[in-house]
Amino acid sequence: MHSLLSNLLAALPKGDALDEPAWSVRHRGILSILWVHVVGVPLYGAYMDAGPSLYLGGGILLAAIAIAARLPAVGRRLQAAIATYGLVTASALLVHLSGGRIELHFHFFVIMSIIVLYQDWLPFLVGLQFVVLDHGVVGTLMPDMVYGHAEGQAHPWTWALIHGSFILAQCAALLYFWRVNEVAREEALESEARTRMIIETALDAVVTTNASGIITDWNTQAELMFDVPRTDAIGQPLATYLSTAQSSSGAGAGVILSGLVPGAILNRRVESVGRTGSGQEFPVELATSCLAIGGTQQFTTFIQNISERKQHEDALCRAKEAAEAASQAKSQFLANMSHEIRTPMNGVLGMTELLLATQLNERQRRYADTAHTSGTNLRHIINDILDFSKIEAGRLVLEHIPYDLRLLLAETSTIFHEQALKKGLSLTLTIAQDIPVTLHGDPHRLRQILTNLISNALKFTATGRIAISAAMEPGSAGQVRIDVSDTGIGIPQDAQGRIFDAFSQADGSTTRKYGGTGLGLAIVKQLVGMMGGHMGLTSVPGEGSTFWFTVSAYATAT
Ligand code: ADP
Repeated sequence: MHSLLSNLLAALPKGDALDEPAWSVRHRGILSILWVHVVGVPLYGAYMDAGPSLYLGGGILLAAIAIAARLPAVGRRLQAAIATYGLVTASALLVHLSGGRIELHFHFFVIMSIIVLYQDWLPFLVGLQFVVLDHGVVGTLMPDMVYGHAEGQAHPWTWALIHGSFILAQCAALLYFWRVNEVAREEALESEARTRMIIETALDAVVTTNASGIITDWNTQAELMFDVPRTDAIGQPLATYLSTAQSSSGAGAGVILSGLVPGAILNRRVESVGRTGSGQEFPVELATSCLAIGGTQQFTTFIQNISERKQHEDALCRAKEAAEAASQAKSQFLANMSHEIRTPMNGVLGMTELLLATQLNERQRRYADTAHTSGTNLRHIINDILDFSKIEAGRLVLEHIPYDLRLLLAETSTIFHEQALKKGLSLTLTIAQDIPVTLHGDPHRLRQILTNLISNALKFTATGRIAISAAMEPGSAGQVRIDVSDTGIGIPQDAQGRIFDAFSQADGSTTRKYGGTGLGLAIVKQLVGMMGGHMGLTSVPGEGSTFWFTVSAYATAT
């Protein structure tokens, strides 16, 4: 019983929840209805031939009540209660002036429905107690004043009970709707408070504008970012604080936000320029979304000050340019140096060769031989450095001439035959039938690529075979694929990615054991790329490696 009562009480509306603007609109409406009665009730009284003192007195009373219901001094709740009192008095007057016509009893029901619009217990209870007193009590004690028919007058208790039940049912329904309304408003307020809190604590400036680009909301972060208080910003065009000139979409942000070009910058990030209250400009990034509420459009813009990011980007850009310039200078220097060293080196080698052709004793020949081998190695390294730095500096130009790939492959592999034989390795060459007779490109550089791969294969293979093969790459538009495979030491998985980098070798001991600079594959890879092909490798440590690359068969053939 107790819990039923407390549940019932909890289900009742709390009351007095309307905000000032909503309450004022309703109060004005209800007062207008009251003023209709100030005129209507006396007219009805005259029509019903009631005594002038009654209907004029009634009219004057209602007018006085209507005036009192506007007195600011009495406060909002009392004004509502007075207006209610006026309306139920009008109901009572109409019932009494009509001599208790049953149709006019409905007036009370209508008035109760109007009064509940205040959503306040005071006017509601004022109305209800008036109905109980004037209708219930007066109707039961003086039935002829309330019921204009014999039936009602004969059984006033029954009629009071029937009317009372209807009023009760109506009030229950009204209270229910009132409560539903109240809950919906509470939820809306709560959700609004949540949104406001999120907006207020947002790290971005959040600005709301209407369809004409006029600011309607401005959060704390916007106050800080633009140095303009909320009260000053609201009502201003957004274009005052966001430059219309530099939006990356080409159209001005202000123009777009004013709704003229909806969708142009909506829902994507746009860079623009912000302007503080004192006119100082700073780069911003903004994202705008549009919300259409009840047919009116509203734009919410999130604005981020990206000055710091821009500074970083500029610094990075400058650092990158400086690094590129330095790298270019280094490559240039290397290219020049290698070129300069190569000329005397050729002189040294030439002279050593001439020396070797003369009469020498065994010791002298050994010394001269060693000098020649070292010189050749050095020239090889210098050539690699020269090529690499030329490629880096973007100064290596490829030829585009017709050449015979079969011949080129045959010649290149022949050069290595003897070397392979000496190491006890077999060297085979397989060329697929469908390879075109003439290819277009740079045969010298292609030879360089092959030489590099074959000499690596020889260098890193102690037993087994070296196999060179060429075939059309299946599924590609005219690419020839060349494979150089060996049964050598192989390359560990983790090193396979980096051996194409300049100065990189599979492991640190390679130089000591096999020599080399780690430049060969870097050059090969760059050359293959420049020829429009690609390259890769498969390798199993201890079993061997296959290096492959592709070249276009018809690069400039047409
Ligand atoms: P270099 O041979 O002058 O050291 P490269 O760029 O030609 O430079 O090769 C880089 C590294 O890749 C070599 O040092 C070696 O570790 C590895 N490598 C290249 N070819 C082979 C191969 N056929 N078998 C095993 N390792 C290889």
